[in-house]
Amino acid sequence: MFADIPVDVGIMYEGERIRWQDAQLEFGGPRVEHKFELVRVRRPEEVEDGKIEVIGPDIKDLEKKSYPLGIYVEVAGKDLEEDIEGVIERRIHEYVNYIEGVMHLNQRYDIWIRVSKRSFEKGLNSLVYVGKVLQRLFKSELPIIEKIQITFITDPEKVKEKFKEAMEVYERRDARARGLKDEEVDAFYGCTLCQSFAPTHVCIITPQRYSNCGAISWFDGRAAARIDPKGPIFRVEKGECIDPLRGEYAGVNQTVKLKSGGEIQRVWLYSAFGYPHTSCGCFEAVAFYIPEVDGFGVVHRGFTENTPIGLSFSTIADSTAGGRQVDGFHGISIEYMRSPKFLQADGGWERVVWVPSVVLERVKDFIPKDLVGKIATEKDAKTVEELKQFLIAKEHPVVKRWEAKAAEEAAKVAAEEAKPAPSAAAVPSAIVSPTPTAAAAELAAPISVGAGGFRLILKNAKIRARKVRIIRVKEK
Ligand code: SF4
Repeated sequence: MFADIPVDVGIMYEGERIRWQDAQLEFGGPRVEHKFELVRVRRPEEVEDGKIEVIGPDIKDLEKKSYPLGIYVEVAGKDLEEDIEGVIERRIHEYVNYIEGVMHLNQRYDIWIRVSKRSFEKGLNSLVYVGKVLQRLFKSELPIIEKIQITFITDPEKVKEKFKEAMEVYERRDARARGLKDEEVDAFYGCTLCQSFAPTHVCIITPQRYSNCGAISWFDGRAAARIDPKGPIFRVEKGECIDPLRGEYAGVNQTVKLKSGGEIQRVWLYSAFGYPHTSCGCFEAVAFYIPEVDGFGVVHRGFTENTPIGLSFSTIADSTAGGRQVDGFHGISIEYMRSPKFLQADGGWERVVWVPSVVLERVKDFIPKDLVGKIATEKDAKTVEELKQFLIAKEHPVVKRWEAKAAEEAAKVAAEEAKPAPSAAAVPSAIVSPTPTAAAAELAAPISVGAGGFRLILKNAKIRARKVRIIRVKEK
């Protein structure tokens, strides 16, 4: 595509995965503390158009390891405003992925970039090439950018220094979108940028449900749809509100169905059950249901230990990513955890039982005060059993749910026992019949079976059995 770039550049490379054994090196990722990408809008005289600088060692100077990286992009143009910075910044993900043999994942303070050995051998040995591709694509795709200069920082101390500025800018952007309610706007925004990795994923961005990646607010969505109406971010008419508690809108369902190629039919914006918002792979965190305590854990990308259910972030993320709707698993942004609509239909914060301490610290001002000390972190519980004990000791609201459930179960058992014993002829045929057809049971409602740390959910399943034996288990 570009004669002076040693590898090919094009949309067909988007979605390319580079495994560690095929990588020349990586920047950012889970092994590196400081990494970021940041776009700032400047005055024209502050930007030297076409300038690319690398502060610190370049690709060719580095061995196969993980390194800190800051991508600092400064743009100018008469129609550019600070409000648009987040939208331009998110395009870095898309454009870097166009480069053959370069993989870009995540966003903001969480970027992860790998360069393949093959592309390195073809000559891709400098970040300057990445800068040139970015500059050309930005100017051709977003003509409101008139001038652009890019600085790549690999010097660890300098990355750390700029990282602080980046975090402050992200916080300012996020704070701007707080306060506006979903009910107060007549449209939401959608994004399909992640479809290269998750083909059926459609983000629905509302004032109170930030995008999964945490990089696009409702304001960013609105600005993006205005400057690039044919781009991956678009307006979504809300339509009729079908269910205000779960957050189901006719217009959202219609858009998601269309943009997911008919794969996703319905979305409940404020629930992790039933028809949860799809999860791509860029989400900042995952909310996961823990059946043993009837509550949710939330784990973020940077958490390297196992959660109390014995699984790491990456294993949990794999179970929900790819543009699917997985009951009880929900890709989310940290900013959504600050929203009053956060898992509203499932009980909100009253249902959250475990969160890594770093995340709790970031969102604690948005949690009802009486709940903050009742939510366990990795310092309080490393197993489900420890979690249970913690929740009981702190009188977390989920404990009341257990009690209510136990009372309900006890009432059911009592009602069963009060019934007169059935005669042999009245015993249900599904239990005793030796014929396969009579023993078939169709389960329209989901049933769940839990054992050995696994949970098996059967939905719309037909179960056929020759014979069913019910055996009382004797205690040893
Ligand atoms: S997570 Fe959502 S908003 Fe963010 S880039 Fe992907 S599709 Fe767009």
